[in-house]
Amino acid sequence: MGAPSTLPHGSASPGSDPIPAAGVENLVVIGSGPAGYTAALYAARANLSPVVITGFQSGGIPGGQLMTTTHVENYPGFPDGILGPELMDRMKAQALRWGSRLLETDADQVDLSQRPFRILTAEGQTILSQALILATGASANRLGLPQEERFWSRGISACAICDGATPQFRAGQLAVVGGGDSACEEAVYLTKYGSHVHLIVRSDRLRASAAMADRVLANAAISVHWNKELVDVAGQTPDADWLASVTMRDRRSGATEELAVRGLFYAIGHTPNTALLQGQLELDPRGYLVTRPGRPETALEGVFAAGDVADAEWRQGITAAASGCQAALAAERWLTHQGLAVVVPREALDPAPAGEPERTAESDAANYDPEASWQKGSFALRKLYHDSSKPLLVVYTSPSCGPCHVLKPQLKRVLNELGGQAQGVEIDIEAEPQIALQAGVTGTPTVQLFFTKEMQQQWRGVKQRGEFRAAIEALLAAPPQPGGTTP
Ligand SMILES: Cc1cc2nc3c(=O)[nH]c(=O)nc-3n(C[C@H](O)[C@H](O)[C@H](O)COP(=O)(O)OP(=O)(O)OC[C@H]3O[C@@H](n4cnc5c(N)ncnc54)[C@H](O)[C@@H]3O)c2cc1C
Repeated sequence: MGAPSTLPHGSASPGSDPIPAAGVENLVVIGSGPAGYTAALYAARANLSPVVITGFQSGGIPGGQLMTTTHVENYPGFPDGILGPELMDRMKAQALRWGSRLLETDADQVDLSQRPFRILTAEGQTILSQALILATGASANRLGLPQEERFWSRGISACAICDGATPQFRAGQLAVVGGGDSACEEAVYLTKYGSHVHLIVRSDRLRASAAMADRVLANAAISVHWNKELVDVAGQTPDADWLASVTMRDRRSGATEELAVRGLFYAIGHTPNTALLQGQLELDPRGYLVTRPGRPETALEGVFAAGDVADAEWRQGITAAASGCQAALAAERWLTHQGLAVVVPREALDPAPAGEPERTAESDAANYDPEASWQKGSFALRKLYHDSSKPLLVVYTSPSCGPCHVLKPQLKRVLNELGGQAQGVEIDIEAEPQIALQAGVTGTPTVQLFFTKEMQQQWRGVKQRGEFRAAIEALLAAPPQPGGTTP
């Protein structure tokens, strides 16, 4: 019994989810933000061969919250700052290099009433584990406005960094709601794209750091609307499919006011991802996991917590990483003390370097390859659209979009699995806004599936790999009649 009989040690790579069989793991880490990856790194170096359930949709994407930001300037070791998605790619690579095994899915249920603990994943796998580190972080809040659902991704977004470059937002009036660091960062970021940015703040002050608040207040392209709350959103006409205005109410006078905007970005805080643990572990009134003061242990032996899920106060990348380290060390000590650890020696004492990620070059007349499974840019898109007889996946991305970062390897993996029966093209909407406009792209990532010059299906946001594969396989099995819509 032990880790090697269930998931092959060191077999995980960014593109290969190990399939668990019956057996008991030493340690499962739930979550892949800075806390989860750091916990995995330490546990892997302790030869515990940890399994990381990275999360996929329900509580955020693999890599966690830093996948939705641009420059991280305060993570030690990067004097010139680093992009959030790049930082998380590096943490992932380091955890993998030392033998962590990743399952790119959500944990749907956790049963802590029996030992070993049981974790049921969204893909139906049951994993048994002696110890558990909960590092599920936090998710962006929504306002729940009456027309919010209708205009979600049609003008409303919870990620300015992901969606700001969308053509519909360019040169339009935009609004950000919130008064903290995220709201200020997003407002400043959006001045790159919008003609003017309105920051809607519930009180008469910003909760952001002084430096961030100063940047907002000194920026002529940003107007701050103090003491205002949002009442609803609306389109130009009752059946319009894009946001045209927001209605604000003054919290002191009660007076309402309409503001014409083409984009509304939420930056109103986060809620800890603890729904999974309700009734099994102690939560504080705001839903944060309760641990022993200043320590990673929960009240249940063998269950540890790390990062924002148990931290209502500091909530930083570095504090999350530090608590991930503590949780892994505590878990290792507990497993050893209980005589439960099954040590899995690494094949190589010093694993091979993680290397740098591969980047796809923009296709042009010189390097375009009609048979390549993955290419980049409008040149390849036009050629494949007109000449290829295979299903064509077009993914619209923007450089700072963390979710795009997560989705691209999934799509490439689907195309590899299909062995050349379909092809893919990536379009950077910041570099090629006209293509995005023509394609009706309203946010990133957007994926469109074309076949015989016709769009067959469209997806917005991160979706499970199986959805894309099933759609392509259905087209291959029963090809539709040729038509003709231009991408
Ligand atoms: C816009 C923005 C900008 C920020 N900028 C900075 C900055 O510049 N510097 C800084 O230090 N901090 C910054 N922060 C804060 C920082 O991102 C967080 O403190 C940090 O990411 C917390 O790490 P974590 O590992 O605890 O959780 P998260 O990063 O929230 O990661 C949680 C992980 O758990 C996974 N998960 C959730 N539910 C499940 C489930 N059911 N099953 C499996 N997995 C699950 C998610 O998919 C995710 O991978 C920023 C945050 C935001 C939102």
